[in-house]
Amino acid sequence: MLPQIESLLVIQDRDHQLQTLQTEIDKIPRDAAAIKERLLEAQAELNIARENAQQNELAIKKIELDRKTRKDTIEKLTVQQFETTKNDEFAALGAEIIRYQDMVNELETQELEFMEKSDTLTSTLNQADEKLTSIKAGMADEVKALTEKKNNHSIRISELKEERAILTKDTQASTLAMYDRVFAKKGNAAVCPLQENLCGGCHMKVITDTVSKTIQEKELSQCENCGCFLYSV
Ligand SMILES: [Zn+2]
Repeated sequence: MLPQIESLLVIQDRDHQLQTLQTEIDKIPRDAAAIKERLLEAQAELNIARENAQQNELAIKKIELDRKTRKDTIEKLTVQQFETTKNDEFAALGAEIIRYQDMVNELETQELEFMEKSDTLTSTLNQADEKLTSIKAGMADEVKALTEKKNNHSIRISELKEERAILTKDTQASTLAMYDRVFAKKGNAAVCPLQENLCGGCHMKVITDTVSKTIQEKELSQCENCGCFLYSV
């Protein structure tokens, strides 16, 4: 293999590592936002669950109050009924008592339904509370891990850039400029294997002269299509 190709491959390896690290660093704000989003969602779920449970409790209290009012009325009517001497008034009061008793029964049925609902709502509320607590507990670690990742990656990037600077010192300026241009254009490679007569970078057929030049390994050869420096495998 041509020494220039060998050193370009080492440079390319560092560039790949730099790319991977940079991509991961670029993802960090999104990951941090996702953590925050999860926290906000859990908080919103808890608020809704709390609101629902409170509404239900209020409904139960209202029913209890209504029931008590009607029971008081029944008591009053019963006293009145006990005190009256008129048969028709006695009968009318008796009908009123039955009517109120029916209302009380209906309210008791309603209360039971709300109380059953209350069990479900309390369980939902507890689950939402536990979920939020667990997210909050894990969040600190997750944020810490992201910060550490960013710091470690940044350190590694600086090291790789230094390494790259040393590696590129002996590379001919025009070759390096060409390498950089092709790498930037292709986005991920500038030195590719020649596979049969196909460029490993763009998978296009290269001309016979390029094939021979690559195989002979006397000077650098490039794919006419994508510009990749080629080496034979
Ligand atoms: Zn090519």
